[in-house]
Amino acid sequence: IEELQSSNVAIVGIGMSGMSALRFLLNKGVFPKVFDSRLTPPVAEKDQQFLNQVERKFGEFKLDEFKEFDYVIVSPGISLKEPALANAQRYNENVFCDVELFARINTKPVIAVTGSNGKSTVVAWLEDFLGRMGKNAVACGNFGVPVLDVIEYGYNGEPVDVYIMELSSFQLESTHSLICEAATVLNVTPDHMDRYESFSEYGRSKLRIYHHSKLCLYNNDDFETKPLLNCNKVHAFGTEAQSRAENYWYFNNETEDLCLNNEVIGNLGQLSLSGSHNGLNAIVVLALANAIGVDPVAEFHNLSHFSGLPHRCKFIADANGVLFVDDSKATNIASTQAALNGLSKNDNKNIVLIAGGDAKGADLSELQADINKHVKKVIAFGKDKTKFVDFLKPEQLVLVSNMSEAVNQSMKLVEQGDIVLLSPACASIDMYKNYQHRGADFKQNVLAAISGLNK
Ligand code: ADP
Repeated sequence: IEELQSSNVAIVGIGMSGMSALRFLLNKGVFPKVFDSRLTPPVAEKDQQFLNQVERKFGEFKLDEFKEFDYVIVSPGISLKEPALANAQRYNENVFCDVELFARINTKPVIAVTGSNGKSTVVAWLEDFLGRMGKNAVACGNFGVPVLDVIEYGYNGEPVDVYIMELSSFQLESTHSLICEAATVLNVTPDHMDRYESFSEYGRSKLRIYHHSKLCLYNNDDFETKPLLNCNKVHAFGTEAQSRAENYWYFNNETEDLCLNNEVIGNLGQLSLSGSHNGLNAIVVLALANAIGVDPVAEFHNLSHFSGLPHRCKFIADANGVLFVDDSKATNIASTQAALNGLSKNDNKNIVLIAGGDAKGADLSELQADINKHVKKVIAFGKDKTKFVDFLKPEQLVLVSNMSEAVNQSMKLVEQGDIVLLSPACASIDMYKNYQHRGADFKQNVLAAISGLNK
């Protein structure tokens, strides 16, 4: 901190984390210069007072813009390959995100979670689980509170016992010294391929989470999650039975038992979430908690209260035996596959899938097998809706232009026992502010359509 106080500091990108970095620095008597490539970045009214205290520059970055700064704190929303930042890194090793600054000053235990899917669910579930045992555990980072807010103000004003940190690949790219009690990469499936040159570059950025972790927990079903380094302690989780399992956290897909070294801890049926992806999420929560001394058997009951986050396979309505499920957070292929397989155990094609949006460069045809198995009809809209035409038969697909048309079409197709699932496999930003906004639109249209039915 003293070093920062006598340095020239820039904050690049004034989103959630940039704003928290600004508040943090101002509290320490550091007056950074704030940059954003947008001419009028959206700033909440309550934050304007902080911005007013510092020098600002909004609009496109010049190549030499950040050269003169000793520290450049970059928002994870901005690529380090952006020419002005790439240039700054040639002169300066202190170009990093808020998590790196946190890491350099933090003294408390950290559990870190990354992966393509399931991060927020695991982090929120672990926060809830540890909280029920009386620990002051706080979800932070990419989900929950920005890390510099929580290190400054604690959790509800009280000191934190353990930080449960969700980290995106973008944050991990510029985090170098985060020490963790345990870290996990849940899975690595293609996502954000518009920002990475290759799948392996994306995967490598996720594995950085293991660098200074006392325990590395990887997914035995997904080789891409395995640490490449020699780590102190490596444990695994997965759905494949292992005869001589050691430190193996096993979710049995058939019986739905959660096990450690083949000893049953409990069953998914005792918990409030379903689907095999949530069986894996649950076993990960137990494994991570165990890394800080929690007994999985004695505390299993505390796992049963968490009922999932909104917009992740959330049941929203039942109309005459037709279920409506909002999985708007499914913004890539693997998450939609998890929803289809989790909701429909047998192959009776009872799902009407509403999908589409911005595919972020992904190959949507990877959904073909799961759609053929579980889906009665796909209703697609949004920027990349025509990508579905390339791999589905005409009778499998209806193209529409918005959510209201999609929901209305779905109502014509369903019968008792069917599920209408919004699980787009695409980002929402082509038509919505974010996935929450898309999920809310779905719910509103569903409720309107159902009330029409009941009239
Ligand atoms: P993230 O924070 O990584 O985006 P979320 O918990 O918000 O993950 O879930 C995102 C999407 O992925 C949701 O559609 C959810 O149903 C699905 N999902 C949750 N856990 C998993 C998992 N372990 N594997 C695959 N998909 C998952």
